[in-house]
Amino acid sequence: MRVQRVVLNSRPGTHGTPVAENFRTEEANLPDKLNAGQVKARTLYLSVDPYMRIRMNDYTGIDFMKPWQLSEVLDGGGVGIVEESQHTNWAKGDFVTSFNWPWQTKAILEGNTLEKIDPQLADGHLSYFLGAIGMPGLTSLFAIKERGHITIGSNKTLVVSGAAGACGSLAGQIGRLEGCSRVVGICGTDEKCSILVSELGFDAAINYKKGNVAEELRKVCPSGVDVYFDNVGGDISDTVIRQMNQNSHVILCGQISQYNNDMAHLPPLLPEIESILKTKNITRERFMVFQYKDKFEPGILQLSQWFKEGKLKIRETVINGLENMGVAFQSMMTGGNIGKQIVRISE
Ligand code: NAP
Repeated sequence: MRVQRVVLNSRPGTHGTPVAENFRTEEANLPDKLNAGQVKARTLYLSVDPYMRIRMNDYTGIDFMKPWQLSEVLDGGGVGIVEESQHTNWAKGDFVTSFNWPWQTKAILEGNTLEKIDPQLADGHLSYFLGAIGMPGLTSLFAIKERGHITIGSNKTLVVSGAAGACGSLAGQIGRLEGCSRVVGICGTDEKCSILVSELGFDAAINYKKGNVAEELRKVCPSGVDVYFDNVGGDISDTVIRQMNQNSHVILCGQISQYNNDMAHLPPLLPEIESILKTKNITRERFMVFQYKDKFEPGILQLSQWFKEGKLKIRETVINGLENMGVAFQSMMTGGNIGKQIVRISE
């Protein structure tokens, strides 16, 4: 059977900006027969995520993250429907997901690599399992719970960078649900700022591409910053850390502003920032969602419950067509998305 697939056409270079042309769509053959334990699935939705930028390099520097290979099919988070099964757990019509779904219109997958999806948890929105009721949702939930030191009534001010993205838009809302009294977002457009405040319940939002972030932050966080959910690193994070309180906490989720500058390791901090962290006793440990795999199931149920109760508002930006995976990735890396960037592959 003929299918469409997306392969890595070229690498942007460890110090390069990725473009849609780094990806190539081509036709490929799928075997007609399944082996024991395999399923054939039709791809419904695929995810593009910032960590993929690191997989575009020929060396990732991270044990569990393999580099993508040139001219080979790419993979990442995906959701699909089983069309044929030779695995006892799966039957035709089941909705399934995987973190290593091939970027193909249809795929033959090992049944034991798949997770079942219950569409009801997302009121039928299957793409949410790649966003708020999937990996980014779990990231925001566990990062806030495990690293935020937030308790109900503790009256804390939370600042979130990358605040209008998949993780950021949820982290602000979850911080509020967990007990923060003030939530401020930093993001890249006025439209995003307005959505954060009017739809997602943030108290204030700052467009880092306009004006002076330090001054704006001082105005909207008059008592300083108690918890900083860091999605971006670089200058924005330095600015926030300079306004953090004694015994406060950086939740080190991601450093997207540095991913085009060789992210083999966490980029070093300025000596001034190191010194602030030390003298103010600010915690800042790397967070990895996959360290919390044993809690994923209850985490998904919590996110679903908040969503159904109307306490967690979900935003996504959808682009259609497998041939647009590269366009979607480039757009997400440059701020084209509000909420989770999704690619719809088929109905
Ligand atoms: P996302 O926020 O939905 O999309 C990326 C966003 O980053 C863009 O929309 C853009 O928004 C912003 N951005 C791009 N370049 C920037 C720059 N130079 N400076 C500031 N902002 C920039 O992506 P996501 O999936 O939610 O991921 C957010 C962060 O979480 C990433 O750093 C990612 O690596 C990290 N993450 C970590 C884990 C973990 O386990 N630790 C898991 C998932 C994700 P603007 O318009 O605001 O610029």
